Amino acid sequence: MRCGTPQGRLWVRDHAVWCRQCVREDLLEGDEPWERRSWRTGAAVFCERHRRVLEEACPRCNKIGKGCLFLSDKGRMQPLCAVKGDKINLWGDVSNDQFPWGLTIDRTISRCVNALSIDLCRSLVGQTLHAQWRGVSRERRLTTIVEELTLMILITIDYLPRPQPPLCWMLEQSDWKAAFHYTPAMLPVPLAAGIIMLASVVLSDHQFFEDRVFWDPSECQIACEPLTPETYVMWLHPKVRSWGRYLISAPFGV
Ligand SMILES: [Zn+2]
Ligand SMILES: [Zn+2]
Repeated sequence: MRCGTPQGRLWVRDHAVWCRQCVREDLLEGDEPWERRSWRTGAAVFCERHRRVLEEACPRCNKIGKGCLFLSDKGRMQPLCAVKGDKINLWGDVSNDQFPWGLTIDRTISRCVNALSIDLCRSLVGQTLHAQWRGVSRERRLTTIVEELTLMILITIDYLPRPQPPLCWMLEQSDWKAAFHYTPAMLPVPLAAGIIMLASVVLSDHQFFEDRVFWDPSECQIACEPLTPETYVMWLHPKVRSWGRYLISAPFGV
């Protein structure tokens, strides 16, 4: 996978994720499942075509990152479970996607998330962005801003996973701890999806929206508060609130 800069390596997932609907179509058309390259980036959390959050747990063994689903057998890719050794059934119904903070996918949010995912991928390889995002400048890349936002959210929800950067990346750094940043690629997909959803709203121009996005920052089961940069900052942990305020007051970038 191309990731441009060494920092970009932190945006690559170390395991496969997939859209069940896309893989079903592969099986109907050509009998072989194939992993889309874009699914390996932490910037990808939804399938844009099917408006579904990407899955990461094997439907057969329920495990993540065991190499299930895209297995080569006798020269062909097979939808096999690497743990149990048998075929994976992808045809059953799946429960509806659950996102943190009462967020739900509708047309507005899916448009916005998709625009952010595309631009994050472009930012990772140094290409010019399609949309305008807060705080982006020649010196500050979109990926850096989303990394900061990710850290703020992880501090707010008191969830800091142990850093597990790729070994090849660590070997390239003189001081890997100083160079390390949390990225959505290191998080469970539903949490990463929640973070990318929040980021897409607070970093984009509100003109972009057709409708308001509602959320439930206090998790009282009713998504009734409009999600705005201001409500986002108020929700942040007091320790990172002024950092968040600085981030959302930045001008829209080039
Ligand atoms: Zn799909
Ligand atoms: Zn499995």
